[in-house]
Amino acid sequence: MTDLAELTTMRVGGPAREVVRPASAGELADAVGAAIADREEWLVLGGGSNVVAPDEGVDATVVLTAGLRGIEPIAADDGRVHLRVAAGERWDDVVAFAVLRGLAGVEALSGIPGSVGAAPVQNIGAYGQELSGVLHAVELLEPSSGRTQQVPVAELGLAYRTSALKRGREGVVVSVELALTPSREGVVGYQQLAGALGVEVGASAPVDRIREAVLELRRAKGMLDDGALPSCGSFFLNPVVDENWARGLPADAPRWPVAPEEADLAAPLEEGPRLRRYPDRRDVKLSGAWLIEHAGIARGFALPGSRAAVSPRHTLSIVNTGGALAREIVQLAEFVQLRVSQEFGINLRPEPTILGA
Ligand SMILES: Cc1cc2nc3c(=O)[nH]c(=O)nc-3n(C[C@H](O)[C@H](O)[C@H](O)COP(=O)(O)OP(=O)(O)OC[C@H]3O[C@@H](n4cnc5c(N)ncnc54)[C@H](O)[C@@H]3O)c2cc1C
Repeated sequence: MTDLAELTTMRVGGPAREVVRPASAGELADAVGAAIADREEWLVLGGGSNVVAPDEGVDATVVLTAGLRGIEPIAADDGRVHLRVAAGERWDDVVAFAVLRGLAGVEALSGIPGSVGAAPVQNIGAYGQELSGVLHAVELLEPSSGRTQQVPVAELGLAYRTSALKRGREGVVVSVELALTPSREGVVGYQQLAGALGVEVGASAPVDRIREAVLELRRAKGMLDDGALPSCGSFFLNPVVDENWARGLPADAPRWPVAPEEADLAAPLEEGPRLRRYPDRRDVKLSGAWLIEHAGIARGFALPGSRAAVSPRHTLSIVNTGGALAREIVQLAEFVQLRVSQEFGINLRPEPTILGA
């Protein structure tokens, strides 16, 4: 039996009933179809970099996508270069591929661990870019029928770290179609990255320099899956709240205006502060790290006797300092949520999928 700890970057989780490794889209459909026919639970995993698996394991077939490989150009007449990329490719290999060929649009997403198939699930984003900026469509396997269909990006409901897939739409991403800009220059859309490159936000810079700068910034924060302490990256989302509600926070609490997001509108009422909605309401994104730190939780914080800790290098990240159990990770996450909610009345939402929760 394989422990989920071996398949996930947080390195926690007990055994899976069965692990299957399909080598093609057909084998993937067969594996999922067989589990459904036998009325067994199943779940799909790419790189396991955004899940926390339970200590007791899962009574389910775990379908790994790593065997689905391939990057191929496809014809398009919109002036962009379209690539079809299979779900099992490593996301960062695709970024490296694009940067090497002078294709812009994903360079700031350098170093994000995990697979291509999972990238649309939470609309991966970092340093001013999101997958939604380049995603054209996904090839989605409908589990019950075994059929695949091409789903245009507009139907995926991509928003800040979410999508229809994350919110419950059934389907396994078999491949994605990216539309990249043929250019050796990319636009720098994030203050910290602009500072590292010595340019203004909104200026252009060579895509290979952007990639290098992003990798360096991520390395310093322990946000690469490169042997740094095991984690899922950021454990909490930056909360998005109504601008009027945010006026009650301390004046120095950082906030950035954002468009009203589908994710926010779809959230259950009890998940966060809600005021009556007006059509012209404005949302602001808050800094989760600022809220955690100002709720009295410093980097490196751990509950007594626990092997889970707030990352010493990145406040939003929870790390496994060695041999932690999933329950220690979840206990710390709940403690952080409790402190922030007591202090500011905000319920921080976890970014990773907590299996079995
Ligand atoms: C150090 C570190 C840094 C990170 N930094 C970032 C960051 O900057 N920005 C960011 O957005 N994320 C970041 N992440 C989170 C993570 O890398 C991304 O969410 C990534 O897309 C997850 O890919 P994965 O293949 O590991 O997904 P998994 O963890 O295997 O799966 C995640 C979820 O997607 C589902 N899933 C997986 N594959 C498929 C598929 N083919 N079809 C349908 N559903 C699928 C799974 O069932 C699960 O619910 C970071 C993680 C780590 C460990």
